[in-house]
Amino acid sequence: MEAPKSTLPYPPIHDKSKVVVLSDWDGTITMTDTNDHLTDNLGFGFEKRRALNLEVLAGRKSFRDAFREMLESVNMPLDECIKLLKQNIQIDPTFKKFYEWCKTHAVPLVIVSSGMEPIIRAVFESTVGVESSEVDIICNSIKVNENGKFEILFRHPESGYGHDKSQAILPYRSLPHKPILFFFGDGVSDLSAAQHADVLFAKDKPDGENDLAAYCTNMGIKHLTFKHFEEALPIVASVVEGRATVEDVLKASPI
Ligand SMILES: [Mg+2]
Repeated sequence: MEAPKSTLPYPPIHDKSKVVVLSDWDGTITMTDTNDHLTDNLGFGFEKRRALNLEVLAGRKSFRDAFREMLESVNMPLDECIKLLKQNIQIDPTFKKFYEWCKTHAVPLVIVSSGMEPIIRAVFESTVGVESSEVDIICNSIKVNENGKFEILFRHPESGYGHDKSQAILPYRSLPHKPILFFFGDGVSDLSAAQHADVLFAKDKPDGENDLAAYCTNMGIKHLTFKHFEEALPIVASVVEGRATVEDVLKASPI
């Protein structure tokens, strides 16, 4: 299949690294999905949003179109949305430890998101407490209209995903030294990338919206479930430090 054309640039790939961690942002690093939070509280609400998620999972609607509908229902200027999210969104309290470990061990951590760059960078800085320029964030963008309201600019407008996350992971797959790729995700928008990881971590959330884990189980894709990044850290470390292979760690896959 031909790669969808990207309307936005990519950061250079970490082509010398032996291990690369790629992670979704919303619902994976953050405890609640920021876009869901906006839709549920400022847009058409939880029930309509969840019904659209299930339409996407069932293959009746594209993620891109459902996502655009959700964001269009949010009736608030961008700066107000960012303010609300900074006040209400929490990240996995163990993420920072994981992030620091990766930095210390020279393991690149790339955020791959269906969200919008100005929102992710603002919330990243206020929650993780480090400059967001330290981290690669591959995501969608935003257009702010004269009234301050925003609309999403999809990275891959032709793709049903809006941002086809596989395009962030595939360049690593083609490197001759074959780096080991870890991917962390939770939802529908992660499906395109998840299948290309060596070790896929699918989030097990208290709200039960574990669409990625459910999909992997249905499709027979090996994966590890995690509630917090601190559970994944010893597993990633064991591979990085050569104490375990990908095959070893995948023995804990529920399927
Ligand atoms: Mg997510």
